[in-house]
Amino acid sequence: MKVTTDTSVCIGAGMCALTAPAVFDQSEEDGTVVLLDETPPPELHAAVRQAERLCPSGAITVLGPDGGGTGTTGGPGPGGAAGAAGPHP
Ligand code: SF4
Repeated sequence: MKVTTDTSVCIGAGMCALTAPAVFDQSEEDGTVVLLDETPPPELHAAVRQAERLCPSGAITVLGPDGGGTGTTGGPGPGGAAGAAGPHP
């Protein structure tokens, strides 16, 4: 899995930092997303997928399969199918 973020479309809603704080943070200046780990480990993939879904501006893009990363053998990924509902400002 590889994560990219686009601060030019991020509106600083902060859902990503709440959902996967090990991977996303927010700038102290303008609140836009700060990517902490562009290749998060498998145990974080579900949260990253959820953050991608929850992001209201589409600023988060997740590439590649779950569970594999870049070069690990990778077992079955968590998939990120957990239901997520919640209001977003
Ligand atoms: S959830 Fe999306 S819009 Fe909100 S801070 Fe994260 S990247 Fe930006």
